[in-house]
Amino acid sequence: MGQRIQLPTDLTGKTFLIAGAAGFVPSHISEMYLNLGANVVGLDNFITGSRSNIEILSKYEKFEFIECNIYEGLPDFKDKKFDYILSLASPASPLDFKTIPLEIMLVNSTGTLNLIELAKDHGARFLEASTSEVYGDPEIHPQVEEYVGAVNPIGIRSPYDESKRFAEALTMMYHRRYNVDTRIIRIFNTYGPRMRPDDGRVIPNFVNQALENKDITVYGDGSQTRSFCFVTDLIQAIHNVLFSQVHTPFNCGNPDEYTIKEAAELIVKLLGSESKISYHPLPEDDPKKRRPNMNKLMAISDYSPKVGFEEGLRQTTEYFKALKNNL
Ligand code: UDP
Repeated sequence: MGQRIQLPTDLTGKTFLIAGAAGFVPSHISEMYLNLGANVVGLDNFITGSRSNIEILSKYEKFEFIECNIYEGLPDFKDKKFDYILSLASPASPLDFKTIPLEIMLVNSTGTLNLIELAKDHGARFLEASTSEVYGDPEIHPQVEEYVGAVNPIGIRSPYDESKRFAEALTMMYHRRYNVDTRIIRIFNTYGPRMRPDDGRVIPNFVNQALENKDITVYGDGSQTRSFCFVTDLIQAIHNVLFSQVHTPFNCGNPDEYTIKEAAELIVKLLGSESKISYHPLPEDDPKKRRPNMNKLMAISDYSPKVGFEEGLRQTTEYFKALKNNL
């Protein structure tokens, strides 16, 4: 058993810089730290983030938002002193890998470099939000952090996969060479309120298709698996890593694994939908299996996912229904 972590209960007086604050996961993280009393400065260029998420955060007095593109340069922060800098700015849907690949590669290289340089200048703790995509189409299952992955370096997913691998390498290099106080998380499939209904990922697609009684678009034969983590569990995992003393990567997710066909059938059943499943070509390099081994985080913290798939789907469905009613 490793060193157990001490989680802070009050972060009053601490200042966070959160890159990508308008995004789904980062907006929840921002809110968690605002609720713990911290000051949060959010950055986003809205390439995939939502203005509605910034409106939610703007209700907090200690939230400040600056619209900017972090790979073109950071704002002048001369009057600020950051304690924590969180690199969460990358688009992450496989649809984005095709439509905005250059932007993804730039944010995870130059953008991350700008953030970690700032962390070095401020003596801030730096967290890089990496991804299960660094394992590519994994040959070992479940994935442990020591596994170095099987990524196609020239494939359709490579702009994301390889730039996140670069961001991890950059983070470890800054830790080794400049002693920056770094953390790395590898986020597995996450879902919940504040996702964009049209972001292209499987849960928003299936829930919205089921709500409209449209065909559920399963890619391939639906035998590929994913392990779905509800967003409140994910942010707890991230919080535990940030306040650990460990610099090497942690998987963050929920090991509850489903085939995509099972997920489709469950969603249709839960929503009482009349949708039928239709089958479509499997995208190139689509990982066949994915499930995090969570032992590393569980050895140093009390992390265990609290929200089961059915309950998480209910809350996500309520969110998408409310969005439709407000349109
Ligand atoms: N998928 C699907 N239908 C959809 C969207 C996705 O069958 O409408 C599949 C996709 O091929 C993959 C899995 O669901 O096997 C998860 O896809 P997602 O885009 O959510 O993220 P990924 O885990 O591939 O990064």
